[in-house]
Amino acid sequence: MNLIIGSHVSFNKDKQMLGSVIETLSYGANTFMFYTGAPQNTNRKDIDPKLTQLAHNLMLNENINIDDVIVHAPYIINLANKKNFEFNVNFLKEEIKRVESLGVNKLVLHPGSHVGAGIDIGIQNIIDSLNECIDKDTKVTICLETMAGKGSELGFTFEQLKTIIDGVKFNEKLGVCLDTCHINDAGYDLNNFDSILEEFDNIIGLDKLLVLHINDSKNIRGAKKDRHENIGYGTIGFDNLLKVIYHEKLKNVPKILETPYVDTDFGKLAPYKYEIEMIKNKKFNDNLVNDIALGNK
Ligand code: FE
Ligand code: FE
Ligand code: ZN
Repeated sequence: MNLIIGSHVSFNKDKQMLGSVIETLSYGANTFMFYTGAPQNTNRKDIDPKLTQLAHNLMLNENINIDDVIVHAPYIINLANKKNFEFNVNFLKEEIKRVESLGVNKLVLHPGSHVGAGIDIGIQNIIDSLNECIDKDTKVTICLETMAGKGSELGFTFEQLKTIIDGVKFNEKLGVCLDTCHINDAGYDLNNFDSILEEFDNIIGLDKLLVLHINDSKNIRGAKKDRHENIGYGTIGFDNLLKVIYHEKLKNVPKILETPYVDTDFGKLAPYKYEIEMIKNKKFNDNLVNDIALGNK
């Protein structure tokens, strides 16, 4: 079975997406996700078409399908909050254009936090904002991420995501990104992933599930925390994550790791090469930190 797997990678101003592809290849991955700038702000550099072309050429050579590549919108955009409505909508519109100019087709977005306005009003604000941003000519598919329910975060149940999708006029441009850490923290039981998937199918429809974020969790089910852990080192566990990754019904869905960098004697290093290796081998590596440190020598 051809696994579509990758991780969060960087996108820097010098090499842009070309650098992202090179980093991806160093992890033995065949897809990737990146922010087009710092996730916590909305300062963005212009996209360089030459670098984009070089990135696409390299992807073609290395059998990376651009349809599997993901951009993550900055998480400070908050469509659920009417305050800064115009700023958020304008930024998302620009981000959609940037993503389209990169030739990327999927944009992951956190639905937003209602910051006291209440769930129903927050959800309505998200719908109104998306209706401002998406029209019949939009090429990119916006994938709403399942959230942990930290603070006043929305999108922590499949029902909430379905309500948003139903409220958006051109909702054929909407999909869902399911994050394993987030759904665990929201209360879904990953010991029983088949029933989660069945629930997802009944409420939203599996055809809408377009991206998977594969993360373990530092916290117990229902903790509403959102702190990612390395694969197999958290409360979800290696076997439960493998069941998601190798699920027959999800074989065409790109899987993206957003696990934390690990502390080593050589500083904080990316775990992705080693996590992808253990996923491909289907064998848990209980020596992750050492292997990452040794690999850096
Ligand atoms: Fe996210
Ligand atoms: Fe995520
Ligand atoms: Zn998270």
